[in-house]
Amino acid sequence: MDFEVDIKQNTRTKKSYRKFDVEDVRKDFPILKRLVNGKSLVYLDNAATSQKPQSVINAITNYYTYENANIHRGLHFLSELATESYEGARLKVKEFVNAMSVSEIIFVRGATEAINLVANSLCRANYFNDGDEILISHMEHHSNIVPWQLLCERKNLKLKVVPVNDKGEFIFEEYEKLLSEKTKLVSIVHISNALGTINPVKEIVKKAHEYNIPVLLDGAQAVPHAKVDVQDLDCDFYVFSGHKVFGPTGIGVLYGKTEFLDKMPPFQGGGDMIREVTFEKTTYEDLPQKFEAGTPNIVGGIALGAALDYLTSFDINEISNHEDSLLKYGTEKLLQIDGLKIIGTSDRKASVISFVIDGIHPYDIGTIIDTDGIAIRTGHHCTMPLIKRFNLPATARASFSMYNKIEEIDHLYNALLKVKRMFT
Ligand code: PMP
Repeated sequence: MDFEVDIKQNTRTKKSYRKFDVEDVRKDFPILKRLVNGKSLVYLDNAATSQKPQSVINAITNYYTYENANIHRGLHFLSELATESYEGARLKVKEFVNAMSVSEIIFVRGATEAINLVANSLCRANYFNDGDEILISHMEHHSNIVPWQLLCERKNLKLKVVPVNDKGEFIFEEYEKLLSEKTKLVSIVHISNALGTINPVKEIVKKAHEYNIPVLLDGAQAVPHAKVDVQDLDCDFYVFSGHKVFGPTGIGVLYGKTEFLDKMPPFQGGGDMIREVTFEKTTYEDLPQKFEAGTPNIVGGIALGAALDYLTSFDINEISNHEDSLLKYGTEKLLQIDGLKIIGTSDRKASVISFVIDGIHPYDIGTIIDTDGIAIRTGHHCTMPLIKRFNLPATARASFSMYNKIEEIDHLYNALLKVKRMFT
């Protein structure tokens, strides 16, 4: 965000960024001080979830200590305060992704719920007809596969899959071939959680729009690492989860262009999303309330706002540069290990290193290095078809965030050498 927004005045002033210094950043994350198995924590599982800065923890405590009330419904002081904080957070999200309007920002539980919302609502809108196709890629997270499969079963649709090459890259020529007048929706991951591949999402959107096909982008891994501008991308939907971007679990965002969201029917029914209810007929609230039935995750929204404040207090390019240097150093260092192979070698990668070591199961790697306080993830990373594509049962994955440092990669390297020694 290049501008600071004053919620009450709705004014924008040019913003000055906090200087990025990894040691300073680390001080903001209390969990990084703790020991695990008697060793300093080395947290390299950021693609699964990020740690939380003190300001986010404070926002949660502050809400429950001083502001707790239900929103939108009460005229009393606390209700108005909580509503202002929650709606203020929506404005922060709108600025963060550069949406046209706050009504395009729907708070949901996370990326998964956002995709399910779009799938279910489009289904209810009778947007799909028998034999229509939905196009995804081979590197999707299960949350961008299964909701569409459920829809395909209900509506007799076909799921088409854009293949990836041996480097783990989206094959654009195959994508072009798969697009047709039968394609009704394209849903693609912005950055792969399993490989780190950064997809050419702007080009993907542009191509689909040549056929008037709407595009959903799964930005779960993208938002903590790079500037996301939904107007520039021109995507029709963009989804992400708060917990991967320094916010709490249980809150996430669906961005949708008004032209779609306006026409889409509600996903769930209940309080807060209605205008008038009779036993014969119910009319719905305008956006975004139409899609937010029931008491929402108020504190989650507010804390997500605090997380975005934290992230955007830095220049995102400085964060990207830092993470790129971790990726470069980590790649070179780990490749020095005999028998280690990196899965996902795209030239355009975010800070994820998925790897296997000859003769050692990834689970053994993860378990052994945990005794040294090093947290990585092992398994299929909720991308089973992708891991199968590489003929593997699983990979080990180290994923970096803005608070990781080079020394932690050295710890990982030394721990992996120890694993190798144990197996030879
Ligand atoms: N998409 C991607 C690329 C992800 O990495 C994840 C989480 N691992 C999701 C979607 C789903 O996110 P959530 O479980 O927070 O809904």
